Amino acid sequence: DTLINQIAAGEVVERPASVVKELVENALDAGARRIDIDLEEGGVRLIRVRDDGGGIDASDLPLAVARHATSKIASLDDLEAVATLGFRGEALPSIASVSRFALASRRAGSEHGAVLPVEGGRIGAVAPKPHPPGTTVEVRDLFYNVPARRKFLRAERTELGHIEDWLRSLALARPDVELRVAHNGKPARRYRALGLLDGDARQTAPERLLETLGEEFARNALRIEHVGAGLRLHGWIARPAYNRASADQQYLYVNGRSVRDRSVAHAVKQAYADVLFHGRQPAYVLFLELDPRGVDVNVHPAKHEVRFREARLVHDFVYRTLLEALAETRA
Ligand code: ADP
Ligand code: MG
Repeated sequence: DTLINQIAAGEVVERPASVVKELVENALDAGARRIDIDLEEGGVRLIRVRDDGGGIDASDLPLAVARHATSKIASLDDLEAVATLGFRGEALPSIASVSRFALASRRAGSEHGAVLPVEGGRIGAVAPKPHPPGTTVEVRDLFYNVPARRKFLRAERTELGHIEDWLRSLALARPDVELRVAHNGKPARRYRALGLLDGDARQTAPERLLETLGEEFARNALRIEHVGAGLRLHGWIARPAYNRASADQQYLYVNGRSVRDRSVAHAVKQAYADVLFHGRQPAYVLFLELDPRGVDVNVHPAKHEVRFREARLVHDFVYRTLLEALAETRA
């Protein structure tokens, strides 16, 4: 089983940033309002993610590190309409098979906390441990038992950079959650929870644009908000005056999940080019919302990609929405 988990880990866990992603997404799925991330040596030595979410019962801790034991999917029907970020029940067993791992938690309303250590996939015994309501996952010495993978880890700065990149994309999508990062014992990054814009937790507030993409972008950001054909597109695209756009300032979220999608990226680029008559890269933070049944997120273990049931419709909706919004800036 440890071997199977290590093989699965090859798909889910590439580097410290992928561990951070899986752990933070679990915290969000558990309803966390605040997430603290402690890192050492770019996350290679330590990744500790603490949340104030719903927590796990002591008796359920072994289940959480068991393969394909997800509490988030009860039936095939659910799999068609995945609303949570996780759903494969693969992340924790995978991570625990390639690190010195500990899962500590206390359920809100429960008197006591507990911890379950796992060392290189060998599951230890649940022991009592004081813990505030919520969960802490500790991942030490990533790939310590898989030298071939460890070899591929990069310098501390590089690994930390990947973590910060991912957190930036999360901070854009979840302005309602407080995120704090410490690196080697020092505070490194803090995203405050912001007030909701139009009562919509998913709407990126302008303050957040400023923090993540800088003053130039924030000043030139054109607000997008459009509903039609069962789809909603909202967020921000840089006006033509913004000339620092690059491919790494293209954020796309489908139902709150950060994804790469060629067809949508193409639609944005096409709208930009058709209105502005130049081939410059657009910069954007765009959220596409649709019925979960219209999109398959189960394409890739790390869930970076999605497949739309009606790809053409989605493409044209995005293209037309942006074409109209951008055309107005020229008028
Ligand atoms: P998945 O997220 O796909 O369900 P994971 O391996 O990431 O699978 O997590 C396994 C299970 O452990 C989750 O379904 C959830 O029940 C529990 N769990 C993991 N992390 C947390 C957390 N931070 N708070 C509460 N429960 C958690
Ligand atoms: Mg998960």
